[in-house]
Amino acid sequence: MKLLLTLSAVLLASLLQAQVPDVQHYDFQLQLSDQHDSIRGVATIRFQYTDTFSSVRFNLAGLQRGKGMRVNEVRAKDKRIAFSHQQNDLFIDMRGLDRQQPEQEVVIQYAGIPADGLIISRNKYGSRTFFADNWPNRAHHWLPCNDRPDDKASVRFSVTAPAHYQVIANGLQVEETNAGKGLKQTVWQEPTPIPTKVMVIGVAEMAVGLLDSAAGVPVSAWVYPQDREKGFKDFALTKGMLDYFHQYIGPYPFKKLANVQSRTRFGGMENASAIFYEENTPTGKGTHEDRMAHEVAHQWFGDMVSEKSFAHLWISEGFATYCTNLYWEYKYGKAAFEDRLRAERQQVVDFVAHNKTSVVNTTSDLQSLLNANSYEKGGWFLHMLRRKLGDAVFRQVLQAFYKNYAGANADTRDFQKLAEEISRQNLQPFFDQWLYHPGVPRLNITWAHSRGKVQLQLQQTGETIYHFPLELAFVDAKGKQTLHRIQVNKVKERYELPSREKPTVILLDPNVNLLFEGTIRE
Ligand SMILES: [Zn+2]
Repeated sequence: MKLLLTLSAVLLASLLQAQVPDVQHYDFQLQLSDQHDSIRGVATIRFQYTDTFSSVRFNLAGLQRGKGMRVNEVRAKDKRIAFSHQQNDLFIDMRGLDRQQPEQEVVIQYAGIPADGLIISRNKYGSRTFFADNWPNRAHHWLPCNDRPDDKASVRFSVTAPAHYQVIANGLQVEETNAGKGLKQTVWQEPTPIPTKVMVIGVAEMAVGLLDSAAGVPVSAWVYPQDREKGFKDFALTKGMLDYFHQYIGPYPFKKLANVQSRTRFGGMENASAIFYEENTPTGKGTHEDRMAHEVAHQWFGDMVSEKSFAHLWISEGFATYCTNLYWEYKYGKAAFEDRLRAERQQVVDFVAHNKTSVVNTTSDLQSLLNANSYEKGGWFLHMLRRKLGDAVFRQVLQAFYKNYAGANADTRDFQKLAEEISRQNLQPFFDQWLYHPGVPRLNITWAHSRGKVQLQLQQTGETIYHFPLELAFVDAKGKQTLHRIQVNKVKERYELPSREKPTVILLDPNVNLLFEGTIRE
């Protein structure tokens, strides 16, 4: 524990009764060096504050085994104020300030070697790089902030670094100045409120190319010089994605789209208007087109509309997964779209075989949420919602969800409420069974043919009894398919469907409309 001013135990206890701020704006001035991995920062934070508590609490990783941040000074209105930095929390004493003001501003001076969050390392070509990698709540390893997805703020990064680096961050570049002594100051500004998980800088020697424009904004690539050709070629694909989502969902929210080759631990990270891709993404062959589409879709869902808490992560990942499929259907057609759905269904089936959690999941192990529930099952849920509502109403729901929650946060029930209002359907049972229960329907179906009819015997063998429409195709000797649709509501049910001839085979869910596992046999 470190205190700048002497505090009595009683005062300290009252300090720790802190309010979590509602941040409006972050201004980060950062200094980076080639000589060492220590960074120096000045964070100016503007936030809403109500009078009830004597202090506010920000997140900032403290010193541990030589790494972490040390706070040197906190000021407000040019006055030094008391603070207490304990582990990952920075408590700032607000008692000396005019707390009648609804908005407050503090200036925090700090320095240290980031233990995480800002990854200072060497890329695959051995060059020194600095890449932020904040998801889910690792921003506080290098930035004092309210490190949670539901406190969105605008951000300005002013980075002073050795002049041989290019510097990328969220928003628009508003300044680049030679700062002397071989240093350069680069300033980026993002006026749209975004969560800390997608507030980043990337500093490396990069080839920077303006590739195209889409949705009225420039599309650029920031890649290692060695991968210039491959990167410029592959990242040009994001133009088509931006155009597609812009017309399908709603206006693109940011002022640019930069595609950045980086050292992220993820395949791609949807940092707002500056997507960071894992460094092997550019191949020159468009190998990772779906990864790019996923991250571009996140600009709408994840960055602009964000989950209220990570329990509703599927609002980021399920939406990005399904939007990728929508783009695939648009670009490559129905068969390619169905191939993706089948593969994703198999991923869900494999996952739920050993995992008994639901899509909406309040676990505190946030890394464990990067699973087939959040991604593929969330995506499949949207696919089934689309089939339930029809293409036009589904699109209306998606557009309204984006419009209503742009710049804000939503949870699963917010989405449900909106979908119910627009579709005028009660969707409670539908949302509950797919998002609040583990698993998928497990079906065991047998059939027989007699007297011009097919008799089906259906059994649900899973723990949850689902309600859903199931399509079956009867295939005759000439290969002609006749489609039938039954409504399944019970553990065990019998159905009789007309069929003069005995089918040679019966196909389950031929149009890939249901998330399930199971078989049908004669
Ligand atoms: Zn994602």
